[in-house]
Amino acid sequence: MIDRATFPSAPAVASSPFIYDTSMRMLDEIGMITELKGIRQVENAYREAYGQGWALTGDAFHYKDPIDGQGIYDALNESKLLAEAIIEWKKGNLTWEQAGAMYKEKAWAATYPMFNMTVQRVKREVHTFPPKLIINTLIRWLLNDPAYQRTFLRALARVEAPSTVPSTPSLGAIWRGILSSLPARSKRQEETPALSPVQ
Ligand SMILES: Cc1cc2nc3c(=O)[nH]c(=O)nc-3n(C[C@H](O)[C@H](O)[C@H](O)COP(=O)(O)OP(=O)(O)OC[C@H]3O[C@@H](n4cnc5c(N)ncnc54)[C@H](O)[C@@H]3O)c2cc1C
Repeated sequence: MIDRATFPSAPAVASSPFIYDTSMRMLDEIGMITELKGIRQVENAYREAYGQGWALTGDAFHYKDPIDGQGIYDALNESKLLAEAIIEWKKGNLTWEQAGAMYKEKAWAATYPMFNMTVQRVKREVHTFPPKLIINTLIRWLLNDPAYQRTFLRALARVEAPSTVPSTPSLGAIWRGILSSLPARSKRQEETPALSPVQ
């Protein structure tokens, strides 16, 4: 552990305690220079997908909290689905009403499971304040669990269904969490990368 007294002579990046110490030192030295405004509440919803002579894609159709970083993928995917529907209408295979209904159905199917995960996560992880004991045990074990991280990243990359991401730790995650909390184990884990690349 590098303490504050040794800070001036410490190498640039020596260890995570050093980074922590540096961050805390920077926080000591900062002050508020303008009023804190924050950001307005982010809303999550769908609008009507189409009507007579118009259709919506991207955020105009379906807007959500950016916490899961899905907006660009959704916008591109919905635009592709809308283009396919318009081609069918232009070819005369579908009426405008049928093309719009097809687009709406496909766009909901492609986006709603992820939308649902985002909304649930925002409720649970941003607007809920569990007791510190729960944060330091169950929630920490869940978020640090390699199996959870893998499933979560695969869902964000739209490789797996969002419904596969658990909201509470499995028995395996709890067991791994307890083991990692043991002093000898947690030291060893700090030195070992927990996550293998997403395939
Ligand atoms: C803070 C934040 C972080 C985000 N992070 C991510 C991320 O990491 N990954 C991700 O995928 N998504 C992220 N998103 C979401 C993503 O930016 C949006 O979902 C995406 O840009 C939607 O694309 P769009 O084309 O539908 O809308 P926009 O990108 O908003 O494009 C709409 C355009 O229309 C223009 N416009 C509006 N009204 C008119 C008008 N009357 N006439 C002419 N032009 C008009 C606007 O100026 C704008 O340029 C984030 C969003 C926010 C707010």
